[in-house]
Amino acid sequence: MYDYLIIGHGLAGAILSQRLLEREQKIMVLDQPDQNHSSTVAAGIFNPITGRKMFKTWKADELFPELNSFYPKLESKLESNFFHPIGVYRPYFAIDDQNDWEAKKSDEKFYAYIDKTATSHIEAHQLHDPHGGLFLNQAGYVNILKLLNANKKYLIDKGCYQETMFYEQDLKSHSDHLSFGDLKFKKIIFCNGIMAHQSEWFHWLPFHPVKGEIMDIEMGKRPKTIYNRGVFILPFENQSIRVGSTYKHHFDDMQPTEAGQNELKEKLSGLLNETYQIKGSRAGIRPATKDRRPFIGKHPDNEHIYVFNGFGSKGVSLIPECSKLFTTYLLDGEALDTEIDISRYYSHYPTKPKN
Ligand SMILES: Cc1cc2nc3c(=O)[nH]c(=O)nc-3n(C[C@H](O)[C@H](O)[C@H](O)COP(=O)(O)OP(=O)(O)OC[C@H]3O[C@@H](n4cnc5c(N)ncnc54)[C@H](O)[C@@H]3O)c2cc1C
Repeated sequence: MYDYLIIGHGLAGAILSQRLLEREQKIMVLDQPDQNHSSTVAAGIFNPITGRKMFKTWKADELFPELNSFYPKLESKLESNFFHPIGVYRPYFAIDDQNDWEAKKSDEKFYAYIDKTATSHIEAHQLHDPHGGLFLNQAGYVNILKLLNANKKYLIDKGCYQETMFYEQDLKSHSDHLSFGDLKFKKIIFCNGIMAHQSEWFHWLPFHPVKGEIMDIEMGKRPKTIYNRGVFILPFENQSIRVGSTYKHHFDDMQPTEAGQNELKEKLSGLLNETYQIKGSRAGIRPATKDRRPFIGKHPDNEHIYVFNGFGSKGVSLIPECSKLFTTYLLDGEALDTEIDISRYYSHYPTKPKN
């Protein structure tokens, strides 16, 4: 009998599988990879200071130290190389930003995340950055597809992975365990990304799916770091350069669109000051939530059923820390932070009508 059945091997299921194996739990991971492409499409960027107003991201002081130690350890365990802390260069919008960030540079709230500042162009006119900008530390990207492939191989070698579709109607409840086909297990954890939206167990959680599109381009000089202002330019591992992303709350399919590509071209024209060629594009749906916080915890009506989801556009930075907290919740009975615990939405759960 397995301790845990994990549904989904995106970034959430993959990292959680490692956390549970570290604690010597017996697990099985089921994944049907074509059910969504969020993890495989994602740029994989982690960046502690984001947005037009350059705010420190939620819980950065916990998330960033954790991710910076977690991914290198996972690389050694999986004998793979997917963690690239190459930093982010964020050009200023206006000259006033210079004074602002010169002051913040020595503020202890930001100190750990600022590598250096520039007060004029950093590359001979490759970018529209006449006022210079900010170089961020503890930032970079994870090649998620490479991580998933390495993790899948690891799980297969340990007999902990099956490529198969999980159907909720085939989940059976017994007195002391659950079963799905021949698999018997004590608990089930849904890491099924946006598919949870349609789930009998978790559809009542306020998911807020957001479609995103990314382009691959070729350009003259390859950047050494990630450029980010309104749009990112990411020098990805295998020589391709990724540009993204769009955010669409209303959409009909998962395909890249001409409108998405035009939006990226428009944004790119505000940042990049040289010609480029588009080589391809891709799209996926982010498992985002209405309150922008993850959905983690126990089903209100069934103590054997759990969810680990809702990582939106920040899975790379959220999942290492959240998986650590979730594992201590499951195995040591530690309470979850109320901001991530789905108990904050138990009042949304539709109780069954009484006969
Ligand atoms: C365009 C785009 C760009 C992004 N860029 C970034 C970025 O730069 N940085 C960042 O941190 N995040 C980024 N993200 C978000 C990131 O992709 C997510 O936060 C994260 O990957 C979510 O992982 P997940 O495992 O929760 O979900 P998913 O990746 O969706 O994984 C769920 C898995 O469950 C499987 N599954 C679902 N239902 C079933 C079933 N019934 N049976 C079997 N298997 C099932 C799916 O096939 C899938 O493999 C981006 C997303 C998009 C779309």
